[in-house]
Amino acid sequence: MQHEAPTVDGGEALEVWIDQDLCTGDGICAQYAPEVFELDIDGLAYVKSADDELLQEVGATTRVPLPLLRDVADSAKECPGDCIHVRRVSDQVEVYGPDAP
Ligand code: SF4
Repeated sequence: MQHEAPTVDGGEALEVWIDQDLCTGDGICAQYAPEVFELDIDGLAYVKSADDELLQEVGATTRVPLPLLRDVADSAKECPGDCIHVRRVSDQVEVYGPDAP
């Protein structure tokens, strides 16, 4: 079965993760959406949980708060490392980021 083209209509739940292997540490994401992204002392960006905890496990995801979707999507588009991945929770299809269609 083929999936339809991803959309973000209807407030569908999204999650975001960062591939630190490609992160340049420029901090653009943390400027766009500091509630979601933060640079650690290693100079790389990580996502944060809803209660502001830095999530440092490889591939760690956090939910994208709907009011911040635009900022998170812009972060993925502007990320010079192409390493911010935003995907639907329901089917794991990437909607913003290097693997988005
Ligand atoms: S914008 Fe991308 S490359 Fe820059 S700090 Fe954030 S994740 Fe890393």
